[in-house]
Amino acid sequence: MVGTVYKSTGSWYSVKTMNGKFYQCRIKGRFRIDDIKSTNPIAVGDIVQFELETKNNEETGVINRIEERKNYIVRKSVKLSKQTHIIASNIDQVFLLITINNPQTFTSFIDRFLVTAEAYSIKTILLFNKIDTYNEDELLEVKYLASLYRKIGYECIEISAVTGENVDKVKALMENKVSMFSGHSGVGKSTLVNAIEPSLDLKTKEISEQHMQGQHTTTFAEMFDLSFDAKIIDTPGIKGFGVVDMEQEEVGDYFPEFFALKQDCKFNNCLHLKEPKCAVKEALENDDISYSRYRSYLQILEGEEESYRTDNWDN
Ligand code: GDP
Ligand code: ZN
Repeated sequence: MVGTVYKSTGSWYSVKTMNGKFYQCRIKGRFRIDDIKSTNPIAVGDIVQFELETKNNEETGVINRIEERKNYIVRKSVKLSKQTHIIASNIDQVFLLITINNPQTFTSFIDRFLVTAEAYSIKTILLFNKIDTYNEDELLEVKYLASLYRKIGYECIEISAVTGENVDKVKALMENKVSMFSGHSGVGKSTLVNAIEPSLDLKTKEISEQHMQGQHTTTFAEMFDLSFDAKIIDTPGIKGFGVVDMEQEEVGDYFPEFFALKQDCKFNNCLHLKEPKCAVKEALENDDISYSRYRSYLQILEGEEESYRTDNWDN
């Protein structure tokens, strides 16, 4: 049988088959998938093959194969730096919620997030939330940022999770897809998911509150089917993705507007720093590339402290 992993609780996996039935499955014996050194062999979103086993009138499954992942996101354990934990796989898109105020989302955070998503091959859609609360200046900033990111190719939607403005547009984009919601704590993720599907009570909040109390909580992602044809992967206590290890030369490839110009740089390994005849620096001078994007690029190249801190995404 073939199914999708919806939940993992230690050694058992809830797997849903095409006909909508859930089976509790586990792995038997040694199970090598690929070269990823992760603490969990199977993650939410994985498509697996399993055989049924009946014991004491109970049908359970034994997973014997996992289909190749389209993409996956990991969380690195800082203590055991080589060990990664696969949070989820086969994600179609992530909605990054951004607020100008309460809390403020900085472009450095947005750009770092986008670079990681590009490295993971996950499409990102930017949602500028709480537009019902902004004054004129703040609305101008939203417009400015939305046009900046649209120009690069990212879809941007201005929404209000509270008044419901443009929430239908988000819903439309979610159809037939597996989505995730990310962004700083307080940007409105739970409120938005509630506006989309009132009956779904995500755990995001609960877990982060536990974190505040200093309790250790293991992260268990979970997939949910919505009432319209859409799926959400909830990742309690995770604000975003862990940072991917990348070579300096790779970083520019994950800034789409830099990547598009790369072939025009004199040196094909151009880091767009002080090299002569650099198309990216020229575009920066002509205002075709925004300074805030270039600054984020430099920060990521320098591997600032923040990249290490955000590696541990728990609230
Ligand atoms: P989360 O931490 O990202 O899940 O954020 P929440 O959904 O808990 O929202 C944090 C606070 O912002 C709550 O008090 C929400 O009511 C409020 N909030 C969220 N979205 C909006 C919005 O679009 N407009 C307004 N006015 N408040 C919002
Ligand atoms: Zn260059």
